[in-house]
Amino acid sequence: MTRPGRSQLFTNGTIWTGVGGPDYSALLVVDGLIAALGDDAVSEAGELAEVVDLADGFLMPSFGDGHAHPIFGGLEGFGPNIRHCTDVDGIIAEVRRYANQHPEKEWILGASYDGSLAAGGLFDARWLDEAVSDRPVVLRAWDYHTVWCNSKALELAGIDADTPEPELGEIPRRDDGAPLGVLREWGAIDLMNAVNPGHDFEDRVDALTRAGEHFASLGVTWVQDAWVEPSDIDVYLAAASRGLLAARFNLALLADPRHFPASLPGMIAAREKVEALGHPHLTAHSVKFFADGVIENETGALLQPYCSGLHDHGMLVWEPEHLAESVQLVDAAGFQAHIHAIGDAAVRIALDAIEHAASINGPSVNRPAIAHVQLAATKDLARFAELGVVPVMQPLWAQLDALMTVLTMPRLGKERAEHQYRMRTLTNNGATIAFGSDWPCSSANPLDGISVGVSRMTIDGEPVGGWTPDERLDLVTALTAYTSGVASLALTGRTNDVWGTITPGSSADMIWLTADPRTRPPLEIPEIGLQATYLAGSSTFMSVTHME
Ligand SMILES: [Zn+2]
Repeated sequence: MTRPGRSQLFTNGTIWTGVGGPDYSALLVVDGLIAALGDDAVSEAGELAEVVDLADGFLMPSFGDGHAHPIFGGLEGFGPNIRHCTDVDGIIAEVRRYANQHPEKEWILGASYDGSLAAGGLFDARWLDEAVSDRPVVLRAWDYHTVWCNSKALELAGIDADTPEPELGEIPRRDDGAPLGVLREWGAIDLMNAVNPGHDFEDRVDALTRAGEHFASLGVTWVQDAWVEPSDIDVYLAAASRGLLAARFNLALLADPRHFPASLPGMIAAREKVEALGHPHLTAHSVKFFADGVIENETGALLQPYCSGLHDHGMLVWEPEHLAESVQLVDAAGFQAHIHAIGDAAVRIALDAIEHAASINGPSVNRPAIAHVQLAATKDLARFAELGVVPVMQPLWAQLDALMTVLTMPRLGKERAEHQYRMRTLTNNGATIAFGSDWPCSSANPLDGISVGVSRMTIDGEPVGGWTPDERLDLVTALTAYTSGVASLALTGRTNDVWGTITPGSSADMIWLTADPRTRPPLEIPEIGLQATYLAGSSTFMSVTHME
């Protein structure tokens, strides 16, 4: 907490306010709020002000992450370390090592593996049996829409050749009908969750704490947790009341079509519990909907069929009318709808649902958001600005990496593949874009995302000139999407919580970088160092070099 009467004068650097207009070279923060800029800052700073010498560095609003999964991300440190495995054998070896080292674990739970390492994302339970056959093993894939289990886990969950195809899920099978080992989407994953005890409470509090520290170390001070189950609420409340949250978090409570609207009163009660705690780092004002799945699983919902023809148009998780009624109900209850929509059919029903809500409730003050927007019909791209919908996009995904070339492009075909992640078109149409990482699905480092958002090249500079270069953003738009763009989702009325720009009266949520990203080639942006992260004027991260 910031000491009352504390004054900090930041000098000797470039200060970018994030609102256009000139840069400044001095900034005064009083009691955690931006007090003055430029000459005013110097003249108003009293003799007792602490002086922070920026050493020719760059001070800007801190980043927000408009879509992430902090507890999942933190938990990746609590199981076999499979994220960086580059082949199936590597995963199996790591699972074996972990299981041998942890004979006390009744379940081996891990995340997250690269789903492109097996053709079609089809991983076999028997491969895991080679590592561990006497205890259940459940691994999540990078997309978090898929799990890979060993035979013991399938047996404990009672999933066999006689198990019918679940609603809203898929069980890939062998020729004889026995399950292969992969479960897709939660209609199938829930069969496993019914017997899988998951991680214990204190591990999850620990995971969330580590996640907050991870975000702080990347310059992020506000995080949208985009998938909160009822059992997560107490994890957040415990971490907040113990003072463990190194960033602000807003919770999006998951709405499951099988239990909605019956689950709405529970969501309102959860929000009341969070509000009753009154912690400045915690809010719960959003509700998460999954309109569809993901392209790589052929569960993303498309207007035209997949190239493989296997599953035709993919999977809509909600009937369009049910989604529309539900979005209207949560908006009327004062929640922000945060709708996952990957395919163009899902984006359309999400926009339709928000339009329906507005036709009954009036234009929403809750800043509805649609996350991912991987593929959208051109005429739907204009509706974001018209309806005041914030597209929450993952700039890091707009590149020709293996995920794109191995899993996505063959499913969409060339023409549709080139219509993905149309960020420039959305901003040209007047939409306010917010960026998010979807960590741990991809890197939580905003500088990695910004580099791709402005170049649409891989870190190796491929392809030269960028993939679908018309959709590259200029750097200031990309920085804005990761700062005030995300802040537009934060919706809070509390004055100390207004952040996202460096303007007098707003919270001093800021980062100090070693260099001005506007002066660097896009591919060098990830190399810029972070010296410090400030939340309401207090540092939540300091680089080692700075502390020396
Ligand atoms: Zn997500």
